[in-house]
Amino acid sequence: MSPTRDYYQVLGVERNADEAEIKKAFWNLARKYHPDVNPGDADAESKFKEINEAYQVLSDPEKRARYDAYGSEAGPEQGGWTTDFGGFDPFSTIFETFFGGGGFGQESPAAGPIRGHDLKYTVAVELAEAAAGVSRSISYSRMGTCQECSGYGTAPGTSRVTCPACGGRGKVQSVSSTPFGTFTRVTQCARCGGQGRVIEKPCPACGGEGRREEHASVQVEIPAGVDTGVRLRVRGEGDAGLRGGSPGDLYVDVVVKPHRLYVRDGNDLRAKVSVSFAQAALGTELELEALDGSSVRLRLRPGVQNGDEVRVKGKGMPAFRGYGRGDIIAEVSVSTPRSLSARERELYEELLAIETGQPPRSAARGSGAGVGAGTAGAGRGKGKDKRGKNSRRGLFGLFGQDNDAAGADRTHDEMG
Ligand SMILES: [Zn+2]
Ligand SMILES: [Zn+2]
Repeated sequence: MSPTRDYYQVLGVERNADEAEIKKAFWNLARKYHPDVNPGDADAESKFKEINEAYQVLSDPEKRARYDAYGSEAGPEQGGWTTDFGGFDPFSTIFETFFGGGGFGQESPAAGPIRGHDLKYTVAVELAEAAAGVSRSISYSRMGTCQECSGYGTAPGTSRVTCPACGGRGKVQSVSSTPFGTFTRVTQCARCGGQGRVIEKPCPACGGEGRREEHASVQVEIPAGVDTGVRLRVRGEGDAGLRGGSPGDLYVDVVVKPHRLYVRDGNDLRAKVSVSFAQAALGTELELEALDGSSVRLRLRPGVQNGDEVRVKGKGMPAFRGYGRGDIIAEVSVSTPRSLSARERELYEELLAIETGQPPRSAARGSGAGVGAGTAGAGRGKGKDKRGKNSRRGLFGLFGQDNDAAGADRTHDEMG
């Protein structure tokens, strides 16, 4: 745990490496130096610790920024970064989880204890469940300790016997003669993996492995405030270990399902509320259903605009493993009516007349003067520049379109 090492050098990445590059470099190195791959190799173990330490710092944006700012020697945390693994053991957990295990078992000594694989399970919860916290029963299959032999791997009534290859010492000695002299090498016994005892009659139920596939059911407490991406760890609920190895862990990845009304934004909950022109203009009160089923009152002031946000404090998500709650943020959407009743049309036209200072179109139509909007157009044309109107009419006249002149005139008026 030397604090003087350059963490970028340790991982073999550039100083501007991104998260993915750092992660990749870490996996590659960690795979190479993992103690399971290098049993009994103290150098590999210390190298692995170093890699881990570097990764813990560089994979955490905050720690990395501090490290970049203060360097490995001059930083305020001189004396060593506290290697915070967040309560998990980096020497055995990461691996099986991300690499699916498997590979290391074969490379390990034939009979040494091996930790069981970690398992991963994804659980989907409703947003309301994420807000309140929920207890979930998770069912899955795993390698469990064999009940027939209690994990010893020996047939009932039998036990392990002294290893015939090493006589129980766990080590074998080989002597080789060379021109420089005779060398004696002591190595671990391959037959018993250094344990000194072997299974003579394997358990018929598990074939001597000491574990069998079993159905497991585990109650998982999902804390309030969880979000998609949160990974919970249930200790010891993974595969059983081999030959006395400890069991792996169960990792539960949480996915929060989308909600019909709310979209999560950190600890805030965003919702769109739709109001009519009249509601927006006059102000209104709306009710929203909060995630706990309670009713939340929204007060929209008169003149509220499309896109305005109204915040209701403390009605959002609780902080995950923290204190306090976010807010509900309602975004106002002023909606245009798609169809109008006769009465509504009348009122809207009256409104429009007030806004434009022109008489309502329906009133003009009501006067009974022929073809709808054309009449209104003609009406609006009155009192305007008569000369201009006449000159346009004259222009069309030149092209022999006198019959269409009224129509063209109307078009111009409405556009103008
Ligand atoms: Zn042996
Ligand atoms: Zn068994």
